[in-house]
Amino acid sequence: MIDFSLTEEQRACRKLVGDFAQKEIAPIAHELDEEQRHSPEIVNKYFEIGLLHYFVPEEYGGAGLGSLDGCLFGEELGAACGGVAATLGGNILGLTPFQIAGSPELKKELLTKHCSGPKLAAFCLTEADAGSDVASIRTTALRQGDEYVINGTKRFISNGGVASLYSVFASEDP
Ligand SMILES: Cc1cc2nc3c(=O)[nH]c(=O)nc-3n(C[C@H](O)[C@H](O)[C@H](O)COP(=O)(O)OP(=O)(O)OC[C@H]3O[C@@H](n4cnc5c(N)ncnc54)[C@H](O)[C@@H]3O)c2cc1C
Repeated sequence: MIDFSLTEEQRACRKLVGDFAQKEIAPIAHELDEEQRHSPEIVNKYFEIGLLHYFVPEEYGGAGLGSLDGCLFGEELGAACGGVAATLGGNILGLTPFQIAGSPELKKELLTKHCSGPKLAAFCLTEADAGSDVASIRTTALRQGDEYVINGTKRFISNGGVASLYSVFASEDP
C-alpha cells in the first residue's frame, strides 16, 4: 500500500511557509495589488528563512527539496497573495531549465551565484504567437563567435523587470 501522507519535514516546512505568508505577506497583499508594486523585502525575508531557492540541490546552495514541497508552499503563499506566490514560484521556474539542461560547470557557476542571495530568476518562453503552442516561438539565438545574439519579443514574463537571471527560450532555426 502506497503511503501518501506528508513527512514530518514536509509538515514542518508547510507550517513555516504558512506562518511566513500570513505574517509577512497577507497584511500588505492588498497594498501591493493596489500599487502594482513588487516587494524586494518579502523576497529578502523568504531568502532568510532558507526557502527562496528550495528546489535547487544543496551542492549549489539551495534547499534540495522537490515538486511536492513546491506545491505545498505554493498553496500557502497563494492563500496570502497570488501575485507574490507567482513572483516566488517564478524564481524556481526560471532556475529549472538550468538544472535540467545545464552542464555541471554552468550549474556550479550560475546556480551557486544565484542562490547566494535574495535574487530572482525569470522563465522567458511566451511570445505573442507562442503560448500553449511553444513550438511557434520566433525568438532567435544566432551564434556570433563565442556568443549568442538573441533577437525577439517575450510577454507575460513573471519577474521580467526584476530578475537577475533569465532563462530565455530561442531557436537557432525557426
Ligand atoms: C499570471 C501569469 C504568469 C505568467 N508567467 C509566465 C512566465 O513567467 N513565463 C512565460 O514564459 N509565460 C508566462 N505566462 C504566460 C503563460 O504561460 C501563457 O499565457 C500560456 O502559455 C497561454 O498562452 P496564451 O496566453 O498565448 O494563450 P493561448 O495559447 O493563445 O491560448 C488561449 C486559449 O486557447 C486555448 N487553446 C490553446 N491551444 C489550444 C488547442 N490546441 N486546442 C484547444 N484549445 C486551445 C487555451 O487553453 C486558452 O484557453 C504567464 C501567464 C500568466 C497569466
